Order: sequence, then structure tokens, then C-alpha cells
Amino acid sequence: MNIKFGRRFFLIILVVMVVSGIITLHLRTDSSSVADNPVTSTTMTRFLMDTAIVIKAVGPDSENAVNEAFAEIERVEAVFSRHLPDSQVAKINQHAGEWVAVSPEVIELLQKGIYYGQLSGGAFDITIGSVIELWGFGSGINRVPDEDELRQARQYVDISKVEIDEERGRVRIPQGTVLDFGGIAKGYAVDLCKQVLKENRVISAMISAGGDIAVVGVKENGNPWRVGIQHPRISTDILAVVSLVDQTIVTSGDYERFFIEEGVRFHHIIDPATGFPARGVISVTIIADSAADGDPLSTAVFVLGLDQGKELIERLDGIEAVIVDEDGDVWVSSGLKDEIELL
Ligand code: AMP
Ligand code: MG
Repeated sequence: MNIKFGRRFFLIILVVMVVSGIITLHLRTDSSSVADNPVTSTTMTRFLMDTAIVIKAVGPDSENAVNEAFAEIERVEAVFSRHLPDSQVAKINQHAGEWVAVSPEVIELLQKGIYYGQLSGGAFDITIGSVIELWGFGSGINRVPDEDELRQARQYVDISKVEIDEERGRVRIPQGTVLDFGGIAKGYAVDLCKQVLKENRVISAMISAGGDIAVVGVKENGNPWRVGIQHPRISTDILAVVSLVDQTIVTSGDYERFFIEEGVRFHHIIDPATGFPARGVISVTIIADSAADGDPLSTAVFVLGLDQGKELIERLDGIEAVIVDEDGDVWVSSGLKDEIELL
């Protein structure tokens, strides 16, 4: 009995020593590395995904963290851009009609795109590529297509015809269809960027990729981040300011990519039902935990318009929105009213 008790006692002591040893070891590693690498702030800008992207991060190795975050955005662009001929999405488009092997993340984002397509009753549709090509958005040569061309191109816009073979990791789209992840990939990239920053011990950060913004934690001074929503008609003005902690804010606006012909503004957010730029609202901002949700939702609500858009937002949990209609009237979702300062 005594011997048994002694052995058990010894084991308990040993376990306690090991556990406290590990804890001590961890604490020491952490504090010494913080001492080795004092907390710094790094801000860098790079042009990726057709947008000037700014990352500001605070942490013990902020410069390296920001470089890794940009590398991640570059990687996502290389997978999802329809303009880079070697991207997986370009491969699916080039081989329309055939099965194309893709990585699991392509299937995952495709499924998310399909989900938001269904949720919005087809207002969001990543098979919009054939119509976008006609308008020339992304290529730099914009023109108003004629009705016949649009009718032709629109017959290839149908998300229900995209086939996914998850087991074998492959995708097939019908001939003539062109996938365009432009309404969702940037949000996805911003989410991954945020993850990379956190993995690199960043404690506070803001990633601003055109209309897609994500924040990590709170500001250096401990206050929530305050993010401005751009005025859709006065580019130097801010319409409102929103307080954010660890969230994302994504805006779709008719001022982002557009051309004006005979006094009419033609922009890059297309209503799949008509093939023409969606009318009725001019800016939609979505606040969500994930920009991969906010991004497709902002595009979807833009196409749905004020009435249907409001209705969709109010029935989604954890999603808030600001919608500006063509008269300049601003609608704020019920859960955001206390967090927003309208200017
Ligand atoms: P965003 O700026 O996030 O609203 O996305 C606009 C981009 O999404 C466009 O440049 C197109 O590449 C793509 N897009 C345009 N209209 C739609 C639509 N109805 N559904 C899905 N993607 C779209
Ligand atoms: Mg979008």
C-alpha cells in the first residue's frame, strides 16, 4: 500500500512538474520572442486582383506577416482570376464542356457562389462571365452590346448547369459558359489574408482591398476600428462611419467600374435577368464576420434592389447592411443603427 501510494504520489508530482515545466517553457518562449521582436506596425500597398490593396498590421513580426498576407492574396488571384490563362478558373472556362480537375478550395468557393445564387433567386450568378465579356469589364475596352448579342450571351448564364464532382475533384461547365468569380474572390482573399495575419501573431490590422475591408481585433489604442463607407457620388467624401471589431465590411458600388455613354452610366454589376447593369441602387455595403459572405451578398443585394434587398438582409443572422438608392436615400439595417454614424 505504502509503496503503491508512494509511486502514485511520485507520478502526480512528476506530472505536475512536467505540466508546469511546459507552461513555464511556453511563457518563456513567448516573452523572449516578443523581447526579440518588439511589436511594430507595418503598412504596405500592392496592386493585386485589379485593385490597390493596403494592409496595416501590428504585431511582433508585422513586416513578415504583411508580406505573407500579400503572398496569400497573390496565390488566390492565381487560382481564381479568369484573366490569368493558367488559373484554375481560366482552365475550367477554356475547357468548357469537359471535366476539369480543380483543387478543393475551388469547389468550396464555387459551392458558396451557388449558395448565394440560390439565396438571391439568381440575382448573384457566377456564370455571368459571357455577359461581362461583352461589356468589356476587366478587359479595358468598354462598349454597350446590342440586344441580340446580349440575348445570345445570356443563354449561357445559368448556375444550375454547373456540375461538380466532389469525389473526383472536378468541375464541368457547358460550352459557351464563362465562370467569373469577380463578385466573391476578393472577399475570400481578404478572409484568408486575415487568417494569415493572425497566424503570424498580428494583434491588430486592417486590410483594405478596394470595396472589401477586414479588420483584425481593435485599433492599437484599444478602440474599435472606425471604417468609412465611401460616398457613391463624391469620391473624396464619406457617407457614414461604422465601428468594427474583428469584422469585415464590403461595398458594391456603381462607381467602382463604369463608363458613361451618351450621358448614361454603365457599370459592372449586371442583372442576370436583363444582361444590363442593375438599376435602382447605387451602393450596397454589407457587414459580416466573413468577407467571403459579404462580397457575394453585396453584389446580390445590389442586383435585387432596395425592397427585395432589405427583405433578404433582415432575415439573415449576423449580416447588416447599408443601401443607398438612386435618389441618394440611405437605408440602414435594424441591427446596425446603433453602430453607425451617418455623416
Ligand atoms: P462586386 O464589386 O463585388 O459587386 O463584384 C462585381 C464583379 O462581380 C463584376 O466585376 C463581375 O466580375 C462580377 N459580377 C457582375 N455581376 C454579377 C452578378 N450578377 N453575379 C455575380 N457576379 C457578378
Ligand atoms: Mg461582391
